[in-house]
Amino acid sequence: MRSIIRSMSSRAFHSFLRFAVRMAAVPPTASMRVVEGLMECPCCGHLVEIEEIAPGFVLACERCGQVLVRRRRTSPLATPAAFCISSAAIYLALLTSSLMTLDVYGRERRVSLFSGPLELIHEGWGEIGVLVALATVVLPGVVIACLGAILYAARRRSLPAWAPILLIWYERLRPWSMVEVYVLGVFVAYTKLVDMAHVDVDAGVYLVGALMVTMAATDSTLDTERIWQHRRLRDLPCGSITASSIRRGGLYPVGRLAACTSCGTLGEFQVEVPESAALGSCPRCASTIRNRKADSLSRTTALLITALICYLPANIMPVMTFNKIGQGGGHTILEGVVELWQGDMIPLALLVFFASIVVPVFKIVSLAVMVFTTWRGSAWALAGRSRLYRFVDIIGRWSMIDVFMISILVAVVRFNALANIEANGGVVCFAAVVVLTIFAAYTFDPRSMWDAAGQNGPERSRDLTRARQTLRLGPADGADGDGMETVSR
Ligand SMILES: [Zn+2]
Ligand SMILES: [Zn+2]
Repeated sequence: MRSIIRSMSSRAFHSFLRFAVRMAAVPPTASMRVVEGLMECPCCGHLVEIEEIAPGFVLACERCGQVLVRRRRTSPLATPAAFCISSAAIYLALLTSSLMTLDVYGRERRVSLFSGPLELIHEGWGEIGVLVALATVVLPGVVIACLGAILYAARRRSLPAWAPILLIWYERLRPWSMVEVYVLGVFVAYTKLVDMAHVDVDAGVYLVGALMVTMAATDSTLDTERIWQHRRLRDLPCGSITASSIRRGGLYPVGRLAACTSCGTLGEFQVEVPESAALGSCPRCASTIRNRKADSLSRTTALLITALICYLPANIMPVMTFNKIGQGGGHTILEGVVELWQGDMIPLALLVFFASIVVPVFKIVSLAVMVFTTWRGSAWALAGRSRLYRFVDIIGRWSMIDVFMISILVAVVRFNALANIEANGGVVCFAAVVVLTIFAAYTFDPRSMWDAAGQNGPERSRDLTRARQTLRLGPADGADGDGMETVSR
């Protein structure tokens, strides 16, 4: 027994030494050369050769369909700048206007963007108040200001040192600015209030709708790669190398390549890169380069289990209590849906049902399937699972509709004994499920599904050679959802 323990401990010690030597063998950035004209698909880890594409075209990964490069027909700086200025003006106007006015038996109450979070904090639901304030007041402003500064910096010949940091934070914070989800929350709250009292819709509602449109327009015209191109790879201190010069016999040195997840720069290292250890900072955007996200499977599993634990109380406990002249009681999420259905607002009932009940379950189940199949090393439906991952990543924030609706209702329906709506513990659990599943999707590395199935070995560059041969036959095929022609490689 003792000898087994001793042999195990000596094996563990040796593997630790090997790990330490491997870590020490990769000095930060110094051993890295930037590879020009080659990109790693962030969704499946496939290596794709990139060349200039014409405006209006997209370059999609041939394995998983992830859009890698998208060239807009619109002006790369002037068009997003115009939408960004409009967003800023609308946002400032929104801060000073009220959303709606409620009239109950001659007593009036106005509600603005701030009322919901402040009322929630006042009632002792500080965590939800802060979350709503961040998603609807603070982050939209921060995101617009960041983008304004980035576009201003991009007009210069060389990008100032602060611009890449802002651009990274813009991309990280953009999903947390939830104006478009808030619009639906306002809409659901309005239909619930109309039953109860006389409601006047104020300018704020139209401004929120307009802000949603201008921010979506900014996103769809913004070409971050064009902004990154201001930092020319050739001028970076670490030096650069072309894709063809590192290819040996049609094969790329897959084990020595790692891409920056923030700006997409691909680096060639002198030694084999470890699985997920930090490889130093990216020469273009200064964020930490890792071959794969750190502890992806264990972190995602932990977050999913926590979300699952919160899911039950989120659906069993009431999310809000409604009192009108001494009558009423607690409402769970499902009861809210039933109420909308019985009030003949069937489309809205379906919307809330899908956003609040179906989407969280769908996200938890989908991510659990992805984690399980990765853990098993399964090659089943890899392209489908990559598409599923992208879908799960997009839909997560739409579950916040109910939280926003409650924040508006508690702020506006405060007429003491006449009519009163209060938030309940269920809303904390529900918001926790939404936030935890968003983080679970963020920590999961979709490339690990392809790694586990053995698809990202040295063979992948051979695949690429084959893809290049087919590409020569016909460069453009079909059109994607945006009406843009797709070049699939
Ligand atoms: Zn791909
Ligand atoms: Zn980078």
